[in-house]
Amino acid sequence: MYDTVIIGSGPAGLSAAVYAKRAELDFIVIERLYGGTGQIAESERVDNYLGLYGENGFEMGEKFRSHAKALGTEFYEGDVTEISSEGSGYKVTLSDGTSFDTKTVVYAAGASHRRLDIKGEAEFHGKGVSYCAVCDGAFCKGKAAAVIGGGDSALGEALYLSKTAEKVYLIHRRDAFRANKLLQKQVSETENIEAILNAVPIEIIGEKRVEALRINRNGSEETIPIHNVFGAIGTVPNSKALNGIAELSPEGYVIANEDCVTSAKGIFAAGDVRTKALRQVITAASDGANSIFSVQRFLSENGS
Ligand code: NAP
Repeated sequence: MYDTVIIGSGPAGLSAAVYAKRAELDFIVIERLYGGTGQIAESERVDNYLGLYGENGFEMGEKFRSHAKALGTEFYEGDVTEISSEGSGYKVTLSDGTSFDTKTVVYAAGASHRRLDIKGEAEFHGKGVSYCAVCDGAFCKGKAAAVIGGGDSALGEALYLSKTAEKVYLIHRRDAFRANKLLQKQVSETENIEAILNAVPIEIIGEKRVEALRINRNGSEETIPIHNVFGAIGTVPNSKALNGIAELSPEGYVIANEDCVTSAKGIFAAGDVRTKALRQVITAASDGANSIFSVQRFLSENGS
């Protein structure tokens, strides 16, 4: 039986692994994608992580991962489908049928891109519909693209695409962006980004791939010819495996404070999946450390 099973290999899970190794815990990290490092791999550039100014997100994730690996962390690729009580601990079951018995769980499964929920989105996913400019931006080189959203992600994606796309439409439902002021300034100074405000997408149109986007701007419909659509309207927590086990917020985040303690004894939530005010790489890494501190305290209080 493991001391803890860490679910997720983003900054929170990898940071937890580093702290778990330092604490000499017996543990394994379950990662959904082989070699995955979570959402950070999709960022072109991260400017606000202490000591790693201007780092490419993918490379930053690789650094985090190699740190955990260098200490001897064991990884297992799989999708967690169930976490059930087993004696005084838990059984973590994966879609391939494998299961791990553990005294505690560090749940750091992160969050996924929120879908636009419009006609054509599912049909053209991978055929011009994407949620990651760094991954798929090359496909709209010299062409027009649309980015949906008004937060840091949307403006970051638009700036990234503006370097290769001929034109980028940045479509936001309100009359003001939510993104930080620096990103807003950069966007306003970029000639080939056109902000379309007070507008929502209603349909993605095409034959075999995306050809146009139908939007509703200020109550009137219009169609914009584009080659690619990037959804950047926030994220939804990957908390399904804890549904019915730990208390979730109405939005589906696992309710936990900075100590990562959840309502389920011995289950700790770290990173973007937990309720918190600021979802950033640095706060996820901090959660990784705090979660293991809480695991250690739990194990010693429970005589393990
Ligand atoms: P976000 O801040 O939640 O922004 C989501 C945007 O999508 C908002 O502008 C929102 O509009 C819009 N939206 C939501 N639902 C929509 C819908 N159904 N239809 C149309 N528009 C919709 O999400 P995010 O930009 O992904 O950022 C998530 C977190 O990561 C934030 O804390 C952010 O600061 C952080 N982040 C940081 C960096 C960085 O520091 N470099 C980069 C990326 C993300 P409203 O504004 O009207 O609500």
